[in-house]
Amino acid sequence: MIYLDHNATTPPAPAVVAAMLPVLSDGWANASSQHGPGQAAKRTLGAARSTVAHALGCRPTEVIFTSGATESNHMAVRGLLAAARAGRRRVLFGSVEHAGHLKLARVLADGGVPVGLLPVRADGTLDIDAARRLIGPDVAFVSLMAANNETGVCMPVAEVAALAQAAGAALHVDATQHIGRLPFDFAHCGADAVSLSAHKFGGPKGAGALLLRQGALWVAQTLGSQERGRRGGTENLPAIVGMASALAQLGDVAAEAARQAALRDAMEAGLARMLPALHVWSRGVPRLPGTSYLRFGSLPAEVVLNRLERLGIAASSGAACSSGGSEPSHVLGAMGVPRDEALCAVRLSLGRTTTAADIEFVLAALPPLLAPLLREEAAAAA
Ligand code: PMP
Repeated sequence: MIYLDHNATTPPAPAVVAAMLPVLSDGWANASSQHGPGQAAKRTLGAARSTVAHALGCRPTEVIFTSGATESNHMAVRGLLAAARAGRRRVLFGSVEHAGHLKLARVLADGGVPVGLLPVRADGTLDIDAARRLIGPDVAFVSLMAANNETGVCMPVAEVAALAQAAGAALHVDATQHIGRLPFDFAHCGADAVSLSAHKFGGPKGAGALLLRQGALWVAQTLGSQERGRRGGTENLPAIVGMASALAQLGDVAAEAARQAALRDAMEAGLARMLPALHVWSRGVPRLPGTSYLRFGSLPAEVVLNRLERLGIAASSGAACSSGGSEPSHVLGAMGVPRDEALCAVRLSLGRTTTAADIEFVLAALPPLLAPLLREEAAAAA
């Protein structure tokens, strides 16, 4: 199989599995226990925390381990809201945040919190002028993704951080798709809270973190004594060790990003040459290196995915969590893409395991399967 769905999840690196196995089989004690095995688990947890902090540019005390980005996002937003000063009731979310995060925005709005959305432009980039108008002195926090999971578009986190800081608002960044794919440094990113998820960078599912800046005004939401009282629940030590191992394996992130971007660009250029009806969304704006969000004329996404499946290529029609449904992507909707075009969206997302041979295969095998369908479509439209 050729796996081109890395934005949905990534295969665990072999070293990650190797690091996790002994913790599953032998190092399973509760890190809160006072006996020897418990204390050993506690040391393992501390070592993993140091590795994560070192890799992400934060202090070990700023790392709160969670079950993944959904939980981190919810914890961040609810915790920042609970700590908001009087007079700061309005909250702002990006309009193309992850579907689960926008559900939370709707729940808050239904509960009476004034929620605003930061719009994007037709190319998927943040409308920074609108952000400048919206981020005012009554805003408690802004919650913005670093990079979009469908288009791959990178959001101007530093600019929004400056706007938030000037307005006295907090900033939460969902860096789930960014971390591991592009260089990241918590100390200099300008955010008060950052969410991440291990399975997007070669780690296991069910492990993530919320990085919380020391001194940030935030109230714990999941109570218990673990994580310095900031997230209760017995730590998932094998997964945490796997996440730390995945971060330690990342190596030269910028070099790997350049490699993936070159493969992605060659794929898009090759497909466009052979299939002139190809449309690539957000081409030419800063994007995640391996993400390509496209449509082949007006071929419905299911038709294209069916051909890809026959070729042994795994891809998706957008966010894995919402694909399978017939509703078009809310991300494309926010970009003003008509519904019928949005229903044709296919996402090919490359990753660390993608090779030049994989892309050569896509270029050799896919156009001959799609070209006749596109010719039929053109003839029917004529
Ligand atoms: N935010 C973004 C941008 C994502 O892409 C995802 C996963 N698709 C999530 C949050 C949720 O992550 P998790 O699976 O760790 O809950």
